[in-house]
Parts: sequence; structure tokens; C-alpha cells
Amino acid sequence: MPQVKAEGLILRSSNLGEWDRLVVVLAMGYGKVRVVAKGARKIQSRYASVTQPLTHLRFTAYVGGKLPTLSQAEALESFRPLRENLDSLAYALYILELVDMSLVDAQPHDDILSLAIACLHILSHTEHRELLLAFFELRLLARLGFALELGVCPRCAGLPGEHLVVDLPGFPCHKCSQREGPRTQIRVNGTAMNLLSKLSGGDWRAVEGLSAPVAGEREVAAVLDSIVFAKLEKRPESHAFLCAIRVAARG
Ligand SMILES: [Zn+2]
Repeated sequence: MPQVKAEGLILRSSNLGEWDRLVVVLAMGYGKVRVVAKGARKIQSRYASVTQPLTHLRFTAYVGGKLPTLSQAEALESFRPLRENLDSLAYALYILELVDMSLVDAQPHDDILSLAIACLHILSHTEHRELLLAFFELRLLARLGFALELGVCPRCAGLPGEHLVVDLPGFPCHKCSQREGPRTQIRVNGTAMNLLSKLSGGDWRAVEGLSAPVAGEREVAAVLDSIVFAKLEKRPESHAFLCAIRVAARG
């Protein structure tokens, strides 16, 4: 019987039948795959904890019948610090949903898998959750072919303007923006622009060192929400939970 043997990240899971769980895994070399974990909802099941969302695992699944069936699974990382902190969990679940919504089944995207796992590791120990999410979103958009252009007008490569056109995404110059018509435009101030270029250019360590609260952080979050919603053509379900956590954090 053919089998899938890979490492992957569990994006979501749902109940199936009386005792089983249907797991959506972003698997290295395979892309997004749906796997049935038989008996995973029984307390004594060896699959009970390893089939939870936010688990980085190594697994084997047999392909046959309607859906592949899990035959072996071992957790490589369960991201406990993220599960134990509600603030971090909100950001982690949002990252998982963005990955899930961005990809179709069975199209390998190992670059996005590595990006998500790397960002979940950073999220486990950073206080800069909002900036980490922005750092992740900018790279996710780029890997999906929807990179935010900051340095030049995305139409004519001239000097960029001040208004972001979210479905480009970028800052068209004055001349080009007059031709854009009634598209969603957002004015982005200089502080937020500086932070955006820091986030898209340098490595995470350059951002990690900034002392909180970081100027422009809220604007950057709003800008990226708009671009991500434009790309996905809808608002992720876990965005409401993320917003509740954001509001509570701002006191
Ligand atoms: Zn232009």
C-alpha cells in the first residue's frame, strides 16, 4: 500500500465519527493533506495529543480508501509555551489559519512550512507578538507572490506615493494612483513606514531588540490586516479572537 511519510505541522483538526479525528497537516514535500487519525479521541489513544493543532510532527499515513489513515506519529515539537499563554495562543492560531487559508490541498509549499515553524518558535519566547505576526505576514505574502512593495511605485518603478493600495499591494506614485480608480487606499504615516521596512528588510533580531511599545506597531498591524484580507478575499475566523486579545493587551 502506498504511504505518505513526512514531517509536518497540524493546521487544524475536527471530529470525525464517534472516536476519530480528521487532521489537516501541512506536510514537507506534499503540501496540505487531510489524514484520518483512527480512535484519536479515545483518552488512551497514542494519537490523542499528537493530533492537536499546533503540533510539529513526523508521521506516516497509508493512502487507500477515501482519505489517508495515520499509522504512525511522533511529536517533534508541541509548542507548549504557546498553548499555556492565551495571548500567544491567539497569535499562533491566527498564523495557522492564515497558512491554511492561503494554500490549496496537495501543492507542496515547504518554504511556508519552514516559515510557519520558525515563527512559532520565535512566538514561544518573544513579547513582540504583534511585530512577529507582521514579520510572518510580510514573508507569507511574498511567498504567495503578493509581496508588499515599499521602495518603488509598483506600476512604474518611480518614487512611491504615501497611500497604500491594498490589493496591489504597494504605494503607487501620484501619477499612477490617479489611474487606480476607486480602490481601497490607506494613508500610512512615516513611523509606520519605517517599521514596515525594518520588518520586511532585516532579520528578526533587528526587530526583537526594539523596546516596547514600538512606535507604529498598531498602524502596521492594521495595514497588514487589510492586505491579508484583500489577498484571502475574506477575514479569517480566528481574527475576532486575535482582536479581543489585542484590545485587552492595549488596556
Ligand atoms: Zn507610478
